[in-house]
Amino acid sequence: MKIFAVDDDPITLALVAEVLRSAGHEVTTCGSSRDALRDIPRAQPDCVISDIMMPEMDGFELIRELRRRPELAALKIVVLSTKSYDFDRRRAKELGADGYLIKPIERTTFVQSIVEIVSEDVLVTYWGVHGTLPVPGVRTLRRGGNTPCVSVEVGGEPLYVFDCGSGIKGLSDRLLAMQQGRITVRIFLSHPHWDHINTIPFFAPLYAPGNQIEIHGPYQGDLSIEQVVSAQMESVYFPVTIREFGAHLVFRDLREESLSFGPVRIDTMLLSHPGYCLGYRLTCRGRKVCYITDNELFLRGDPHRDEHYLERLADFVRGADVLITDTTYRDHEYPAKIGWGHSCVSEVAELAARAQVKRLHLFHHDPDQSDDDIDLKLAETRAALAKLDASVECDAPAEGTDLVL
Ligand SMILES: [Zn+2]
Ligand SMILES: [Zn+2]
Repeated sequence: MKIFAVDDDPITLALVAEVLRSAGHEVTTCGSSRDALRDIPRAQPDCVISDIMMPEMDGFELIRELRRRPELAALKIVVLSTKSYDFDRRRAKELGADGYLIKPIERTTFVQSIVEIVSEDVLVTYWGVHGTLPVPGVRTLRRGGNTPCVSVEVGGEPLYVFDCGSGIKGLSDRLLAMQQGRITVRIFLSHPHWDHINTIPFFAPLYAPGNQIEIHGPYQGDLSIEQVVSAQMESVYFPVTIREFGAHLVFRDLREESLSFGPVRIDTMLLSHPGYCLGYRLTCRGRKVCYITDNELFLRGDPHRDEHYLERLADFVRGADVLITDTTYRDHEYPAKIGWGHSCVSEVAELAARAQVKRLHLFHHDPDQSDDDIDLKLAETRAALAKLDASVECDAPAEGTDLVL
């Protein structure tokens, strides 16, 4: 990338240049914000890294001036400042900054942080793919035995997390290792069954003051999502209560609705599962990620099958870049499990084909299924899709797998 760094502190400037150059980027440095405003349009960089507290013209003013120029619309702007106040972060964002990093820079993660902010990619990562209960052991070595957790990263935006099954421990460890300073995480719970919430207390960012963690989940009648999360941490079940979370917490009960967070939009839909369970559709930069679990699509001829619901669901996930969905059972396993709230291969394949999704990712595997069983389930789903003449890429991703969209 072509990077233009502006800072009145020559030591920071030299360090930023050295770290970025050693990673293969082209760097121009500038010690004056006024000169930067003059030189940036000529230099045509991909990204400007700017300090805030500078004489003559501060970083906010520089961002405002750069954002006034339509010819620089594609330019990415990252603030690099010692100021870690929420006010300054918000102000930078409002003025058009794409990201905000805190000094001093961390040699090992700085380049990666810049690349992530500048990237237009949407990154989906699987942290737990089994349903119902964690199943560690030799039978699940390849795909992992953790329960549902999927993260979605969009450059420069808060982290999006779907469900807090045991897989979230891996995500928590990675966030700790990255030492990013204050973070904002938006968690969306499908529903409060244990396999989707019971690892919330082990998500380390919840304990760090300065972090903002939003927990969204389906309206549960008389019980709020805050009460749901808090109840599983009552002292008889767990020694740490919700009051010991140091992060700023925001709880929100959701119904079928649409939420907008900058470039990210979240739509929700009630699913076919005991109690209140929400499916989510994340849309950002033209990419669509659908997280639909837990969900039962009844077989044709079953009196519980609801054609109106199936049509609405197909509309909800239509054209998704990836449909991550409950495919708990192989077809021959399902007749013994009708009414348990989960789906089998043939109905999932039909939904994917009907909605013309680009990718179908099988998810929420039955705890009795080994990696080999899931291989067979995957082969059966691909065969079902082929029979339907659907051009849907199908996979059963393992824990730790990334999907770049
Ligand atoms: Zn489940
Ligand atoms: Zn469930």
